[in-house]
Amino acid sequence: MFGTLSEKFGAVLSLVSGKKKIERADIESTLEQVKQAMLQADIPYDIVKNFTEKVAQQLLGHTRGPKAQLPEQVMVTLYRQLTELMGGASGNLDKLLLPIPSTIMLVGLQGSGKTTTAAKLAYRYMQLAAKQNKKRYVMLASVDYDRPAAIDQLEILAGQVGCQFYRSQATDAISAAKDIVAYAKQAGIEYLILDTAGRMHVDQEMLGQLKSITAIAKPRATWLVIDGMVGQQSLMVAREFHAAVGIDGAIVTKMDSEVGGGAIIALYATIAKPVIAVGQGEKIQDLEPLYAERIAQRIIGMGDIKTLSERLESVVTKAEEDKISASFKSGSLTFEDFLASLEMMKKIGSLGSLLKYLPGAGQLKLTPEMIQQGEQDLRRVRAIIQSMTPKERKSAKLLDGTRKLRVAKGAGVTVEQIDSLVSRFEQTQQFVKLLKKNNNFALF
Ligand code: GDP
Ligand code: MG
Repeated sequence: MFGTLSEKFGAVLSLVSGKKKIERADIESTLEQVKQAMLQADIPYDIVKNFTEKVAQQLLGHTRGPKAQLPEQVMVTLYRQLTELMGGASGNLDKLLLPIPSTIMLVGLQGSGKTTTAAKLAYRYMQLAAKQNKKRYVMLASVDYDRPAAIDQLEILAGQVGCQFYRSQATDAISAAKDIVAYAKQAGIEYLILDTAGRMHVDQEMLGQLKSITAIAKPRATWLVIDGMVGQQSLMVAREFHAAVGIDGAIVTKMDSEVGGGAIIALYATIAKPVIAVGQGEKIQDLEPLYAERIAQRIIGMGDIKTLSERLESVVTKAEEDKISASFKSGSLTFEDFLASLEMMKKIGSLGSLLKYLPGAGQLKLTPEMIQQGEQDLRRVRAIIQSMTPKERKSAKLLDGTRKLRVAKGAGVTVEQIDSLVSRFEQTQQFVKLLKKNNNFALF
């Protein structure tokens, strides 16, 4: 989601990382490029200027003469300052988690993704509870009386989530809010997620209505839903909502599209409230909590292995995970394991979506065509392994000429392609053995 920005940061940092010491002139030209990259990501000029000045001050001190720095220092300073810019390190605290009971009110312009996000939140709370074998009383309700189908839309989503839904018989937003809150209290609802109406533009009538609803519902959290595709203008919207109803944090949606992510970086500098999650698609599963330090890592090109492994956890069963990690640890990787890890990857998403989390991926400059090629390669690998017998999957050595011919036919590939897979697989086996020898599994 920070494609261009992390690509630019990566390029800038690779310039300095080739050097032993960084002189004043290097720092100045690096920061100039960082500035350009941030401006291109649609971050307002004032914020960018402030940011680069702070970094410069830290790296150059107040001295006038050349002051040499280590490349790592440049990287760490940028990382720290980027994290600060987005509201500081969260210490891995999931800001979406609130005490019980809580009312959450979602506000934002029409089409920003409020209703979808309400369902995503409900799904998340249900999932987290299910993982701990708990039952949670999560309820979705709407006070959107502007669009006739708005409440139906939420009801359908609640059905998908499998949480409670309540439709007030009231005919206006204010009475509905009163009714919903009273019902939730009496029904012992633990998380009430309140969806509200939004307009195309900020207008006083909408804000006035939200103020009244806030007074009635007394939400523990009011979260602003922002369309990530809108750009700088969304920051002004945030300011107005914040002034009217007091925002506790923001959720930026549609980050699955190729957008710069400027709003995520600039929001905290604008209203001193952080972005706490991002929407990564239209489905109820597509919500990802956001941690400033991890985003900073992604932008700098350090990757975001933590988020990737959390996504893995959410789609892979414990048994699958144990099986793979056991074979990794024993150093006896087979084609069977290889296939299983490919299946896991398939569950997380496309190769393109995975790459965003890997260290240095921004610098690889992978084109959509290259990613597509990679997907094709993976499909071929899958087909080859699936055409092997269980015995062959356990021991690649069994694959003689006749067997290869049979597998090639089954998978619709050439014998050369099988040979190349086998040799790549043997390399991986070597690598796993090496890791095991050096006891390097802390990485996994
Ligand atoms: P609301 O008017 O603020 O309630 O917005 P909706 O929740 O109805 O969403 C408006 C449109 O944006 C719908 O078509 C959603 O499917 C879509 N949408 C919402 N969140 C996301 C997201 O994270 N990614 C993508 N691709 N689409 C989204
Ligand atoms: Mg809506």
